[in-house]
Amino acid sequence: MTAAPTILSNLKAVKDEITKAAKRYGAGKAPPAQIIAVSKTHGAESILPLLEAGHRLFGENRVQEAQGKWPELKAKHPKTELHLIGPLQSNKVREALALFDVIHTIDRPKLAAEIKKEMDKTGKKPTLFIQVNTGKEPQKAGAMPEEADDFIAECKKIFGKQLVGLMCIPPAHEEPAPHFALLRTIAERNGLTQLSMGMSGDYGLASAMGASYVRVGSAIFGEREAA
Ligand SMILES: *Cc1c(COP(=O)(O)O)cnc(C)c1O
Repeated sequence: MTAAPTILSNLKAVKDEITKAAKRYGAGKAPPAQIIAVSKTHGAESILPLLEAGHRLFGENRVQEAQGKWPELKAKHPKTELHLIGPLQSNKVREALALFDVIHTIDRPKLAAEIKKEMDKTGKKPTLFIQVNTGKEPQKAGAMPEEADDFIAECKKIFGKQLVGLMCIPPAHEEPAPHFALLRTIAERNGLTQLSMGMSGDYGLASAMGASYVRVGSAIFGEREAA
């Protein structure tokens, strides 16, 4: 477990790096990337120091794990904005919408339909991103780049303004820059303004390339234990 003061100074270091990166991007035209603190595998004792210091954006990649810790944390800190950044199964949509404010991983029509159905039933209005599999990796979630325009158009019809942007996870052993650039190109030509891209290893680059949100886990919380 990483000590609370270390977690807070890690967050500060990530913020400073992003501020520097934002200055390199478009002469400060875009606001600097917001930091989603990715708290997967970490417990309340690691998350609370950030909440108490006023950090509001957190990310989890598994619905079930998030259900185990976030209802209580959100009750204590109601302004928390919880982001689902991992793949979502259609049969977990109800639980996901009950807990998450933002979903980054819409990637297929069936999931979009299921989310719409649940929204209509519950009146929930989550903010939504489409995940694009920029590296076309068979094991990875996300719409294929060549199918993205059609899928975005379909989702815009279903979700209107709730669909705000695109998300990607570049292949682990490739230069991330071309993937960030591709994501931005697809977003721009489809009139979407928000980009969810960049993790601990490349959030500075992602910010400099116009990320709206970076998803940072280990650079804030320390290395995760292997599962
Ligand atoms: C775990 C995870 C992250 C954060 O990874 P780090 O390298 O620890 O910053 C970001 N995005 C997704 C989708 C993740 O699953």
